[in-house]
Amino acid sequence: MTSPGISERMPAAVYHGAHDIRITDVPTPERRAGEVLVRVLRSGICGTDATEWSVGPKVFPVTSEHAVTHHHGPMVLGHEFVGEIVEVPDAAEAASPAAPAGSPSLAGSLATGPGASVAFAVGDLVASGAGVWCGECARCLEGRTNMCLNYYTLGLSLDGGMAGYVSVPVRTLVPVPAALPLDSAALAQPLAVGIHAARRSGALSGDRVLVIGGGAIASFVLAGLKHLLDVEVTVVEFAGPKQERALRLGADHVVSPSERLTADVEAAFGGGRADVVIEASGAPGQLAAAVSLVRNGGRVLAVGLPKVQPTLDVHSLVFREITLDSSLAHVCQTDLPAALAILASTTLGEELVERVVPLSDLGAQLDRLTAGQVDGKILIDPWL
Ligand SMILES: [Zn+2]
Ligand SMILES: [Zn+2]
Repeated sequence: MTSPGISERMPAAVYHGAHDIRITDVPTPERRAGEVLVRVLRSGICGTDATEWSVGPKVFPVTSEHAVTHHHGPMVLGHEFVGEIVEVPDAAEAASPAAPAGSPSLAGSLATGPGASVAFAVGDLVASGAGVWCGECARCLEGRTNMCLNYYTLGLSLDGGMAGYVSVPVRTLVPVPAALPLDSAALAQPLAVGIHAARRSGALSGDRVLVIGGGAIASFVLAGLKHLLDVEVTVVEFAGPKQERALRLGADHVVSPSERLTADVEAAFGGGRADVVIEASGAPGQLAAAVSLVRNGGRVLAVGLPKVQPTLDVHSLVFREITLDSSLAHVCQTDLPAALAILASTTLGEELVERVVPLSDLGAQLDRLTAGQVDGKILIDPWL
């Protein structure tokens, strides 16, 4: 039974396989024990969705069962969403960590447990971090909740937010600041990923940081760097709108890829190499380029997955004692509030949101994303 005011059925984008996402009317999901039901207002399309669309399933548990959620089969995608809370746990349920008999719950205490103490009310606007952690395992206890041994992600390993409604664990939600437009708030999750990457880069204030790429992911990393640190940033991107955007987002210098890249980067920094290089383009050969562009003893961070398996000069890594690191998702309780604070205090949302489209446009937009024709973010309004 759904609460009054919540429709019994909802529109949803259900992933079945490559080039097979069905926009259908499905029953509104039951709110799981300890969770809130969110009416989705905006849901971002991610590069991961485009990969699943073009060559998947790679991550979605369509052909094999997910180890934590036990989801197996077609799945509602969408892991970058904001919405309005329409149903909350009742007092008795909130007081008891155990799921009431007969109510749907996910993996017992995973849905409740420590960290589920933020009180939300019906009508609150919230941004979702999508990734869910247990709060009790060794990685969670050391604060690396994105490495949780019981981690799962709405829209990647369980039904997500590219639908009218979704049931969401409370601890993964952060209130949307009052004056922040929904279109901007919808960037909170991917921006949190960028902020996490900026932290993982190990850059310190005073460092010279080179960011390879000027697309959406790189823009989120750049925003994170500039928010967290006082660093001098050079962005490598082809001349044009993305270079101009990087400058508006705070890049100190931009350089275009060319055979003279090393010299151009050194000139941009006023001589010498970067202390930290962040590869955020995913383009072939760029991780190797990152290694060649960092100073001796410097750090290289790989963000996201390269489109082609990279070859690396391990001799150069060793002889120049370069630290190579990676970054995945975000640490929700730190990075998601920071993301919303950045969105509320900058023009990042206006810079990056390309358009808002109905669910029926999803396939066409995924084709554009796959073809590299999207420079910003495309949002779905499931109620359009
Ligand atoms: Zn994503
Ligand atoms: Zn954990």
